[in-house]
Amino acid sequence: CGIVGYIGTQIAPDILISGLEKLEYRGYDSAGLATIFEDELHCVRAKGKLHNLRAKIEQNHHPAQIGIGHTRWATHGKPEEHNAHPHLDMARRVAVVQNGIIENYRELREDLKTKGHEFVSDTDTEVIPHLIAELLTTTSESDSPLLEAVQKAVQRLRGAYAIAVICADYPDEMVIAREQAPLVIGFGQGEFFCASDTPALIAHTRAVLPLENGEIAKLTPLGVEVYNQSGDRVKKTPRTLDWNP
Ligand code: GLU
Repeated sequence: CGIVGYIGTQIAPDILISGLEKLEYRGYDSAGLATIFEDELHCVRAKGKLHNLRAKIEQNHHPAQIGIGHTRWATHGKPEEHNAHPHLDMARRVAVVQNGIIENYRELREDLKTKGHEFVSDTDTEVIPHLIAELLTTTSESDSPLLEAVQKAVQRLRGAYAIAVICADYPDEMVIAREQAPLVIGFGQGEFFCASDTPALIAHTRAVLPLENGEIAKLTPLGVEVYNQSGDRVKKTPRTLDWNP
C-alpha cells in the first residue's frame, strides 16, 4: 500500500525503511525491499510490522545506492512473506513493487506459463517482473532497454496501479509508472526518490513532481526523464512543497 524508491549516493536500505515508516499510516500487513549491490539483486521481505523487516536487514546489510521498498495491503494472496513485495522474475534480475490491482493478471500469468515462467506467489503483482524479463529479451538493442521493456509491459496491464522497477542488469536506473494510483518523484542533488505520498520525501527534498496517469519515468543518478503514454518525452518542472512539519 506504500511505495518508496531511491537512487543516488546514500545508503538505500536506510532511506527506504525510513520512507516506509512515513507511509505506515496507509496501513499494511507486510513489507519488503530490493536493492542492487555489486550487480546482484538483494531482496528482503517480512510479514507484519516494519521492525520485522528492519531486523532482517540489519542481519544482511549492504551499502546499496539504489533500491525500492513496499508496504503491502494484501488484495490477492494471503498476507504471508512469499506474497510480500518486491516480486522478482525467475532469474532474480528484475524486482517490482506495486500498489493497486492488476485486473488481468490471470490471463497474463497463463500466457507467461506457456513461455516457461513459473510463479511462486499468489499475487497479481508477480506477473509484472516476469513480463518485464520476457520483454527485456526483445529490447536489448534499444538505447534504454529497461525503460522500453516497462513501457511495453504497462501497455498489457489493466487495472489501477503504481509500480517501481529495478533490474540488476541496469544498476543505475529505476523505472516507475502509474495508472490511477499515486506516485510522486522527489528531486535531490545527484539523488532522486519516488514515493506514494510526499511525507516519505520531505526529509530529503521539497522539490517534487507528481506523476500523471499513464506517465512513465526513468530515474538515474543524473536526472529524471518523464514519458507520456505515447512514449514521447515530456518536459516537466518539479514544484516546491510548502510544508511546515
Ligand atoms: N494487489 C497487490 C497485492 O495484493 C498490491 C496490494 C497493495 O497495494 O499493497 O500484492
